[in-house]
Amino acid sequence: MHLYRPLYWGYRVQSSVEQTGGAVPEAPRKVLPGCVSPYRGRLVALWEHYHTPRTVADALACLARYDGQARLIAGGTDLLIDMQHVEKGDHPLAALVDVTTVSEMTKISVRDGLLYVGAAVTHTSIVKSPLVEEYATCLVESCGVVGGLQVRNVATLGGNVAHALPAGDGTTSLVALGADAEVAWHNGIREWLPVTQIFRGPGISALDSRQDVLVGFRFRCCQEGEASAFKRIMRPQGVALPILGCAVWVQLDESRRVLKDIRICISPVDRVPVLAADVEDSLRGQEITDGLIRHVASAARDQLNPRASKYRASAEYRSHMIETLLNQVLPLAIKRARSGVARAEGVGLG
Ligand SMILES: Cc1cc2nc3c(=O)[nH]c(=O)nc-3n(C[C@H](O)[C@H](O)[C@H](O)COP(=O)(O)OP(=O)(O)OC[C@H]3O[C@@H](n4cnc5c(N)ncnc54)[C@H](O)[C@@H]3O)c2cc1C
Repeated sequence: MHLYRPLYWGYRVQSSVEQTGGAVPEAPRKVLPGCVSPYRGRLVALWEHYHTPRTVADALACLARYDGQARLIAGGTDLLIDMQHVEKGDHPLAALVDVTTVSEMTKISVRDGLLYVGAAVTHTSIVKSPLVEEYATCLVESCGVVGGLQVRNVATLGGNVAHALPAGDGTTSLVALGADAEVAWHNGIREWLPVTQIFRGPGISALDSRQDVLVGFRFRCCQEGEASAFKRIMRPQGVALPILGCAVWVQLDESRRVLKDIRICISPVDRVPVLAADVEDSLRGQEITDGLIRHVASAARDQLNPRASKYRASAEYRSHMIETLLNQVLPLAIKRARSGVARAEGVGLG
């Protein structure tokens, strides 16, 4: 059977789909070219088989049987672009294993005060989820600015994390929410670990998407006196490259005047997404005043040292924008925590 899968750049990709759950064909099969990419005037097949497993166990078994020659795919918005850069003589990938058909990975749910978001949940599903808006507003706001609508309709939160770029918008909010990630490792161990442990460097993940599966995320739902917010600065022209994103989670005391606890993630600042621990320390336990926020936001310029990026912005500009972002996002999160009203802003604007 052939599946025509519309992609974000507007043309259709024809792929051969094995409708056998996770099973790998025993006997050699005729190679059915998957996505074809023009390379120096000829068409190059990018993969041979396409699997649609129904469970995490099936996905792992499918990857294992290809022994490192297959790769996981979710929305394909990062992977297919990477795969377009084929070099002469490269062989097509033996198979793609699509996790968007694994039902447990496509769900959003609340259990025991924790919000669970499957790794294969799309950005659009997150943006449209009243649960996520209420309990993790910053995640709606960060997913709502990713790419354009066509990208958000297929791109997944798990793909954003697995791709391991420190500029990932959903990633930035997950770090501020103190999220854990669930990973099904190829050795049979399935465990929850802090999402920050997935990142090893720009584009380098602890996961090997030829054999491990990122299953989903969980974090505490915002309670009374708690809230979150996200904003980003980007180049509005052409491809909207994020220049700097800032996600903040706050917990106020009963008087709602003191910042009992706080988490801030500003990305990309380091090689991996991290919490701004020094900035958090200057705010934790403090009485909230306009002066305090202005002072801390200004000091953060010296505490954080964002990298210069040829395509995104100079380090100097990014430092300046750290102050701007904190002066906007901190008051917004505090206002939400005080009022108990959390309506996502800026969603879908680009
Ligand atoms: C035009 C355009 C604009 C974009 N704009 C933005 C933006 O504004 N902000 C932003 O953050 N990103 C942006 N992106 C990048 C991309 O859309 C996101 O990173 C997206 O979340 C990737 O998800 P995906 O499902 O498409 O991942 P895929 O491309 O399917 O996969 C990405 C990588 O993760 C692996 N992988 C996927 N799922 C899993 C899993 N469950 N377990 C293990 N490994 C897995 C794959 O093997 C691959 O290596 C943009 C991309 C495009 C094309």
